[in-house]
Amino acid sequence: MSKIFDDPMYFKKLSLGQKPDYLWIGCSDSRVPANEVTNTDAGELFVHRNIANMVVHTDMNLLSVLEYAVKFLGVKHVIVCGHYGCGGVKAAMSNDLHGFVDNWLRNIKDVYNKYTVELEAIEDMDKRTDRLTELNVIEQVKNLSKTTIVQEAWKTRELHLHGWVYGINSGLITDLKVIHDAKEDIEKIYRFD
Ligand SMILES: [Zn+2]
Repeated sequence: MSKIFDDPMYFKKLSLGQKPDYLWIGCSDSRVPANEVTNTDAGELFVHRNIANMVVHTDMNLLSVLEYAVKFLGVKHVIVCGHYGCGGVKAAMSNDLHGFVDNWLRNIKDVYNKYTVELEAIEDMDKRTDRLTELNVIEQVKNLSKTTIVQEAWKTRELHLHGWVYGINSGLITDLKVIHDAKEDIEKIYRFD
């Protein structure tokens, strides 16, 4: 009701189609709804969510969403957004069995293994989990940059990839400054302090 109250043409405008500039790849966690986190309205974000905001090269769902967003909707930005306190990241750091999801979390365990030295130098487990959350986002942006869809887009136009982490307890977004130069595919990963 309030949408119509604020703007009588609200649904009429939405029914005409969508032309979002952003594709959001976020976590399924109920506390990180894409539009609320970014203060955007319906029609502004194309959204894909899964446990721990992963970009897995064999995920047909993700690849279909990505292709549609990049090729047909023409989004200009793709954002991978993780969040501190992510249950998926926490679960990936334990050796407990959680069920089928452990197969999915295997991808985060691979990220952990890649950065074992850095991560195990952090004694505080909450801080270590936070750092893995950030490293996971950085790795997922890298995965994104290697997809055929992004590589093909970069041959003809600019497409900006971003890696963010959202703080559930602060409401703030941290840009990890994962920079990928369009076309050149040169990546510069800046460490977040
Ligand atoms: Zn999560």
